[in-house]
Amino acid sequence: MRTVIENGWILTMDSADTCYENGYIIIEGDRITHVGKSPVPADLLAGASHVDAGGSIVMPGMINTHCHVSMIPFRTMGDDCPDRLRRFLFPLEEKAVTPQLVYWGALYGIAEMLLSGITTFLDMYYFEDQVAEACRDAGIRGFLGETVIGQKTCDSEAPYGGLDYGRKFIQKWKGDPLVSPLIAPHGTNTNQPEFLEKAYALACEYDTLYTLHASEMDYEMDYFAREYHQTPTEFLHALGVLSPRTLLAHCIHMTESDLDRIAAAGASVSHCIGSNTKAGKGVSPVKTMLERGIPVGLGTDGPSSGNTLSMFTQFRLFASFHKTENRDRSLFPARDIVRLGTRTGAKALGAADRIGTLEPGKQADIVMVERNSINMFPCYNPYSALVYSAERANVDRVWVAGQERVRHGRLTGLDETEIRRRLLEQMPDFLEKSREFASII
Ligand SMILES: [Zn+2]
Repeated sequence: MRTVIENGWILTMDSADTCYENGYIIIEGDRITHVGKSPVPADLLAGASHVDAGGSIVMPGMINTHCHVSMIPFRTMGDDCPDRLRRFLFPLEEKAVTPQLVYWGALYGIAEMLLSGITTFLDMYYFEDQVAEACRDAGIRGFLGETVIGQKTCDSEAPYGGLDYGRKFIQKWKGDPLVSPLIAPHGTNTNQPEFLEKAYALACEYDTLYTLHASEMDYEMDYFAREYHQTPTEFLHALGVLSPRTLLAHCIHMTESDLDRIAAAGASVSHCIGSNTKAGKGVSPVKTMLERGIPVGLGTDGPSSGNTLSMFTQFRLFASFHKTENRDRSLFPARDIVRLGTRTGAKALGAADRIGTLEPGKQADIVMVERNSINMFPCYNPYSALVYSAERANVDRVWVAGQERVRHGRLTGLDETEIRRRLLEQMPDFLEKSREFASII
């Protein structure tokens, strides 16, 4: 079936940043076949269904390169608690997270992402099979990795159980049209070096991405300085796990030589400005990363760390923090920021051949952002509108792989109220166990 989207302000985000103030897109099946300036050639209109964009901004589906989507039940719990990861997140996860909680938490978070125009996300968590099921049920694109970590977890009695789970998970989901499996060692200092290597070998064996938290925590930096006289990046480089398949989440604390190593290895970075600055951890040197050609994607981080799963929040925070950090208003014009959330994000996931731009042959992952609401007028520059004016509520329609998942701001295939009800059904035990930490959360 052919669908014609007409009368849109189309931001292709292609390598020339081609933009059509009055343009069209044609979708056939799961792909884009044509993009151009109106009018639509008559021969392409025959038998097609029509969508009148009514002047909306039409952009590629946004790409969230770092998330733990199933952590919805943790949202607003101990937001301001220092060292929360070790003090209550790890222990509560281990005691209280179940496959059902992961599934319904994932579906809830996926609904939130679709409604905010995110069509692809990368996730690392436990019971990742349930996250994959949720992606399939919701029709969103997921790059999903089971967490490998040197401690007992909710889905493994023994440390490093994620390695076996991850192998089975990759075998099960490899080749799925929406789910791209990968392996996700938790972090540089939460795995013994040999397990970072084993996880990397698995990624090589199945040709998947390899993602981990890196250079994020002060205590992580101190640990590597003390134990190895190295930075975490130097350590990963010496271990041989930096390559184009490596996606490093955060990279807040970087030396010049760290950046050289990442660039030379062809590795990518997921930058989570909302989560990093909420925790007071610092601002990653993204300007320098981009100058060195490192692909940098944007990430919301999990709903416990970054709270909103909206890319619009990341856009705005990115502009504010990086311009302030560099004392330069002209740095990162809005178009460059939208590019990070689309085309460069796709590159960071090694998927630039399939997603991230509106071009013939690419997957039809498309977002329409309306301009009728009170906050969207006037609009001289659509990139500026996306970074500085738009909110999740302005997302009008969303397609993933040619399937319409959001229409007029409502999910087409999921019932938001029912998902919340089912998630709440799973939460009493979690809430009971969280009482142990009541004094700090
Ligand atoms: Zn994270």
